[in-house]
Amino acid sequence: MNNVYTTISAEETRKLGHELAVQIIPGTLICLSGDLGAGKTTFTQGFLRGLGAEGPYISPTFVIMKQYDLGQPVNGIERIYHVDAYRVEMKDFEILGFSEWCGDKKGIIILEWPERVSDILPEKRTEIVFKNVSEDEREITITSFP
Ligand code: ADP
Ligand code: MG
Repeated sequence: MNNVYTTISAEETRKLGHELAVQIIPGTLICLSGDLGAGKTTFTQGFLRGLGAEGPYISPTFVIMKQYDLGQPVNGIERIYHVDAYRVEMKDFEILGFSEWCGDKKGIIILEWPERVSDILPEKRTEIVFKNVSEDEREITITSFP
């Protein structure tokens, strides 16, 4: 699957996140990449809202991982791990529990800065690439591997 979307507002990007969230199956790793300001966090807000995760939706930049336990499972999903690899070394990432999060059959992982830990990413994953087209326009490409 390789789908390209264009959004022309932050709200539209949130809506796309919401739409993907209600289609995703548990056990999926979603990697978000793209420049600063490209919309990764905005998309994640929509995704979390789509699954009914309770806020506040804080950025995991400093905490590395923020876990959201859903009060009500959605399509078999009970948890979301929002992870930011920007500040971690690959070896520390394993120690922090990355393989356990990946092995959670009832969880979803949203990973920002996947390029920082590229060597340890499982082959089976969904990649979303965000591109700044203009001030309010973003091109968002969703690809599922394999
Ligand atoms: P990132 O997490 O990739 O660094 P953010 O989601 O934090 O990016 O920031 C995106 C910024 O761009 C926000 O200020 C948002 O309001 C703005 N924006 C404008 N148009 C869009 C769009 N189409 N999609 C997403 N964000 C947009
Ligand atoms: Mg961000």
